[in-house]
Amino acid sequence: MSSGVLRAIVLGGGVAGIAAALGLRDLGLQVTLLESHGWLGGRTFSFVDRHSARRLDNGPHVMLGCYRAMRTLLRRLGTEPYFAAAQSLTVAYRTNQGQRARLALGRLPVPLSMPFALWKMPWPLRQRLAALRGLGALLRPANSEWTLAHWLQQHGQIGAPAEWLWQPLCRAIMNVEPHEASALVFQATMREAFFGSAATGAFWIPQRPWGEIVGEAAVRVLADAGIDVQLHARVSGLTVAGQRITALDLGSGRRLDIGADTEVVSALPWHALAPLLGGSPPFAQLASAPLVSAYFAIDDAQAPPDEGLLTALVAGEPFHFLYRTPGARRGEFALLAGGCRQLDGCKVAEIEAQARTQMARHYPEIELRSASVRISKEARATIVAAPGAAAMRPAPGRLAFGPRNLRVCGDWTAVGLPSTLEGAARSAEQLLASFR
Ligand SMILES: Cc1cc2nc3c(=O)[nH]c(=O)nc-3n(C[C@H](O)[C@H](O)[C@H](O)COP(=O)(O)OP(=O)(O)OC[C@H]3O[C@@H](n4cnc5c(N)ncnc54)[C@H](O)[C@@H]3O)c2cc1C
Repeated sequence: MSSGVLRAIVLGGGVAGIAAALGLRDLGLQVTLLESHGWLGGRTFSFVDRHSARRLDNGPHVMLGCYRAMRTLLRRLGTEPYFAAAQSLTVAYRTNQGQRARLALGRLPVPLSMPFALWKMPWPLRQRLAALRGLGALLRPANSEWTLAHWLQQHGQIGAPAEWLWQPLCRAIMNVEPHEASALVFQATMREAFFGSAATGAFWIPQRPWGEIVGEAAVRVLADAGIDVQLHARVSGLTVAGQRITALDLGSGRRLDIGADTEVVSALPWHALAPLLGGSPPFAQLASAPLVSAYFAIDDAQAPPDEGLLTALVAGEPFHFLYRTPGARRGEFALLAGGCRQLDGCKVAEIEAQARTQMARHYPEIELRSASVRISKEARATIVAAPGAAAMRPAPGRLAFGPRNLRVCGDWTAVGLPSTLEGAARSAEQLLASFR
């Protein structure tokens, strides 16, 4: 434990802030958590749609079996059982001509079962062989300056392997298109997911709203741990004197003095911390990627067939996935567009029209005129983990240039992963290591 530190003020109550607050309390510190919203959970939250009265998430969030740190947090929150954890990876496919296929891995470790699963894909022989070579190429670290699109080209991953395998994986993991994604960061997640047991590569799909899984559970668990959680507490300014933060301004006009025994831990997103520090820190240049969800509700009799929890929409523009919540009725499903710039600036009605048009292309047999659609837009869902972003992401812990009693964590810090739930949870683990 860093000497003389008795208290910590954690800024931000998303996954990273919750995990950091609990860990710091475990280290014996007195902890206060300041969160600008009236709830905890950050970018994972739920709301009630006033038209349908359904409780929806701000966008479907999916985990992988290899999300080790996030699962540790969920166990602490008591919500790990709220997931349908598959035994192995299964993805359904739909092309825009209505063609169907399925990639289904068996119970063997992924490196053994993936080749068999790929071999069964409805692609020409040459492209199946190319995909197998592509899997092997994941083992050799890519050039750190390459985008995934460049890597795909270098390894002959064009046609079906690119459209059916790599593009959907890139959108699901990186929330951007291959021409924006760092090949190295993509490979890091793929190696964790696909080079272990069958379960590490399998999807973990929530059976309850994310608000229940993270935010509401955290309010209880943090209170039980004796952590002072202050909601509606937006940090609007820092006072720095002698290279230390000496006070925090809270939006309400309140001021919080920071004593010499207190460490400030920022678990704020990149775009919220940069203006507080001023002076254009490198991470102020990190680009953001959006995520748009279109939640459909229709009579079960008119709904698309149940193809499983996740269907990749091959050559789907702008929506790439059809997602179902386990246990939800068949007529309730969502379309997802991750990292797609085509919807930037579009009005909700335009996005709804595009979602309906796309359903008509991929599911021409389905009549959706009577469906209701609720659009959820998150403009800054994740950072763009582009090749150049590595130099802008500080390691969790102290900043090289910041006040001496400030440490940072969050999904945008350098944990070797894209900005994900697991990246956020791991950043908190690494931050805690800096206190020991
Ligand atoms: C729609 C959507 C879908 C996603 N899907 C997936 C997925 O399928 N799988 C996956 O792994 N990841 C997914 N992600 C990414 C994942 O949600 C994030 O990586 C993760 O939640 C980030 O957690 P965090 O704690 O680092 O940051 P945040 O969740 O952003 O937490 C930061 C907190 O700081 C608070 N805050 C901001 N400014 C201030 C201030 N001035 N004062 C006080 N508090 C402040 C915010 O309100 C927030 O609560 C998705 C994200 C979105 C938006």
